[in-house]
Amino acid sequence: MRYTVAKSSEGENRGAAKDKLDAFKEHCRRVGLKVTPQRIAVYEELAGSKEHPSAEMVYRKVRKVLPNISLDTVNRTLLTLNDMGAAFVVEGSGDAKRYDGNLENHQHFKCVRCKKIIDFHYKPFDDIKVPSSIKKKFTVLRKTVYLEGICDLCKKASG
Ligand SMILES: [Zn+2]
Ligand SMILES: [Zn+2]
Repeated sequence: MRYTVAKSSEGENRGAAKDKLDAFKEHCRRVGLKVTPQRIAVYEELAGSKEHPSAEMVYRKVRKVLPNISLDTVNRTLLTLNDMGAAFVVEGSGDAKRYDGNLENHQHFKCVRCKKIIDFHYKPFDDIKVPSSIKKKFTVLRKTVYLEGICDLCKKASG
């Protein structure tokens, strides 16, 4: 499922962010989850971030709004968002899971040096073909193209 939100090229405008939040609340109710301040704060932080933050990173931000929230709660909330499809774990992000609240079609490039995860969108990657041998045996829930390498800044730094 995806939230359809008008795209703005430079960051999120306030109207779109509000629409997104309303869609999220609606989504919670539909799957029988309470709309709690914790869930809202974690969702808003993630949806407004382009950093693909880890739980730790989300925690540091959300704590400014909800000083009593624990890292454990943030962790569990992120997993809940992942389970309900309001966010997802970025592929290849290993132990310190990185999360993404951007549900628009897009792909990732991850720098193996600085661990930055950069969004890009290349249309032909949106609908890659699944071999019939796989389709026959398995149910494919998500297809994704994921690139890994060295980013421009790290390349420059290493000369
Ligand atoms: Zn880098
Ligand atoms: Zn992303």
